Amino acid sequence: MTTTIIPTGRLAAVTGGASGIGLSTVNRLREDGHQVLIIDRSEQSLELAEKLSTEELPVHAKVADLSSAEEINRVTGEIDRDFGGVDILVNNAGIHPKRPDSSHFPIEEITLDQWNLVMNVNMTATFLLSQWAMKGMTEKGWGRIVNVASRAGRMYMPISGAHYAASKAAVIGFTRTLAGDCGPHGVTANTVAPGRIKTPLSDVSGLGSSQNLHEEFARTVPLRRVGTSDELAAAISFLASEDSSFITGAVIDVNGGVFG
Ligand code: NAD
Repeated sequence: MTTTIIPTGRLAAVTGGASGIGLSTVNRLREDGHQVLIIDRSEQSLELAEKLSTEELPVHAKVADLSSAEEINRVTGEIDRDFGGVDILVNNAGIHPKRPDSSHFPIEEITLDQWNLVMNVNMTATFLLSQWAMKGMTEKGWGRIVNVASRAGRMYMPISGAHYAASKAAVIGFTRTLAGDCGPHGVTANTVAPGRIKTPLSDVSGLGSSQNLHEEFARTVPLRRVGTSDELAAAISFLASEDSSFITGAVIDVNGGVFG
């Protein structure tokens, strides 16, 4: 069945849009009628954008390494020049270092370089891109920022190291304050906190049996399964829509029902 897409005239930027949750979000926001801009370090983004583009609804891509403030400065300058800012920003790009056997990553094994890299990609890029995007959004009097945190930023997750957990907890605190600053100008900012979602990031098949690890994990989840990237994209789509107009500063757990 083909669905009719009605263009909204809005531009939605999705970081990390070349894979997993980001790619599902790109597809979903496109179906919602937005022009979408993928921002990703992967060169594949360019090919993807071309493949997904139609005459009525182009998909764009910018290749950038978001661990670098200089790269963020370059790419946001290009976006301002090419599109005059964005209406929707999804800060989704993230990295999650794991130990080879996917056992807990103890604090004493985290180097300062690893710490800084995780913070730069997962948190600092979210800060810099939100700071840039909110400027244009507040001028227009409308905008949506959706930041992707993690269950690991809400509670202890043995598989995640302290650098990852700290970066994701920081995203939640940052977004709450961002919502306060943006709110008076018609801009909302919310967080989604995914539990285990089947994507390349959570795939540890090179390290053992990914499927078995997912199944083992699923036993601890009330819905008895891991999630899909489309389920995350649905929550992000809602937070990027008019329907979420009175929701800001919220954290939406998309984790199959795990609390505490
Ligand atoms: P993924 O690895 O499938 O995709 C991540 C994307 O981010 C890739 O396209 C990658 O190229 C891009 N990226 C990584 N570093 C980048 C950088 N320095 N500059 C630009 N782009 C970069 O991962 P995913 O599972 O889809 O994860 C998306 C988000 O969801 C991440 O923030 C992750 O922490 C979060 N998350 C995922 C899970 C899960 O189980 N998959 C659980 C909780 C939170």
